[in-house]
Amino acid sequence: MKQLKREFIVEAWDAKELSEEDQELLERAHEAALNAYAPYSDFRVGAAVRLESGEIVIGSNQENMAYPSGMCAERTAFFAAGSQYPKQRIESAAVVTDREMEVHDFSPCGGCRQVMLESEIRNSAPIRFLMQPGTGEVIVSSNVSQFLPLTFQLPRT
Ligand SMILES: [Zn+2]
Repeated sequence: MKQLKREFIVEAWDAKELSEEDQELLERAHEAALNAYAPYSDFRVGAAVRLESGEIVIGSNQENMAYPSGMCAERTAFFAAGSQYPKQRIESAAVVTDREMEVHDFSPCGGCRQVMLESEIRNSAPIRFLMQPGTGEVIVSSNVSQFLPLTFQLPRT
């Protein structure tokens, strides 16, 4: 038996120290959170995806009284980007909530991690990923694949 270890590395940033591009992405995600439909959780989440063209596509969580029919902000944004710009690479993405909470308690659900990972595989390049709950610290990852170790993939034939 041997242990197999994987490193998980993210950075914690003061939002004001980020590049203009990253700050704009966060702002667009916060604007998107205002469009959330979250009458059941009262937890409004916004996401923004920056394409290689510089275009930004947004999404917000859209809940439904049949709970599984709702959709998270991240997947709403990633699917919208894939639908509208299928040939464009995604360079970066941000997810935010308007709720002040511990930054370590705010990260994508498993379903969104899987979808973002597949976008990264389609991209053939890492997707820079930012997370900001409320107005606090921003957690930045250089890629999304590290959020889902031991990834599900179909067997190659
Ligand atoms: Zn999710």
